[in-house]
Amino acid sequence: MTFITRFAPSPTGPLHLGHAFSALTAYDMAQTAGGLFHLRIDDLDQSRSRPEWEAQIYDDLHWLGLDWPTPALRQSDRLPRYRDALNSLWDQGLLYPCSCSRADIRAAASAPQEGAPLHGPDGLIYPGTCRPQSPPTGPMPDSPLRLDTARALARLQAPLSFTETGQGPDGETGTITPQDMVQTVGDVALARPGMGASYHLSVVCDDADQVITHVIRGQDLFTATQIHVLLQRLLGLPTPIYHHHRLIRDHEGRRLAKRDDARAIATYRTMGKTPDDIRQMLGL
Ligand code: GLU
Repeated sequence: MTFITRFAPSPTGPLHLGHAFSALTAYDMAQTAGGLFHLRIDDLDQSRSRPEWEAQIYDDLHWLGLDWPTPALRQSDRLPRYRDALNSLWDQGLLYPCSCSRADIRAAASAPQEGAPLHGPDGLIYPGTCRPQSPPTGPMPDSPLRLDTARALARLQAPLSFTETGQGPDGETGTITPQDMVQTVGDVALARPGMGASYHLSVVCDDADQVITHVIRGQDLFTATQIHVLLQRLLGLPTPIYHHHRLIRDHEGRRLAKRDDARAIATYRTMGKTPDDIRQMLGL
């Protein structure tokens, strides 16, 4: 199979038009290529994931006319796999424990000597408070962990790059070579409190294990892709082709969010809209 893609929603609220656009785009591209479309349930954040939202995802996607191999892969079933990946990075001396809260990071990042706080694809750029001089030794602790990004980049034999067949937010396309990850991304959280692993770690394991050849998702994740490519290199995993698509926005030009119930697929269904109406609204 030369084209395998996926749609990976989190069951933390209703699917809205933006999700429908992403799922339909991936599904249509797989159909055109004679490939395969997987559904993956990103339910690592158990404090926000709900079985009723997962059921609604299945129902809405079937209603839209999509199908996928069952059962769908669920991240909450794969914690040992993510632990193995973390262990590999720990053994390479690339992780360190860090229990800084968001408030701690905000305070440290806005301290006068650090200049203005800067946001990256993983949120506020970590100011390095807990980063050790040399890699910690001994067994990996059961605590939140960060990647020492500078150390990790220094290990690579060749520069990072990936192929973009869609478009980044600034029109990026073709072969992308990330620049300045230390400055613009910083030390990424890979094991989060109460979640075992972070999105960045789990997504690269899942994409590799499901043999995903094409990652099709919204442009909001374009800048996170460099983190994923770095982790793939460190873990010896293949890098898929990436296709970031435009985002569906509301009338004020804001990206749709889970709270936008007015644009939930379920709302359109109760209004009597058809799947074709949804495709038309999305320009598909
Ligand atoms: N659950 C993630 C999201 O909805 C998936 C991101 C991805 O496709 O990699 O943003």
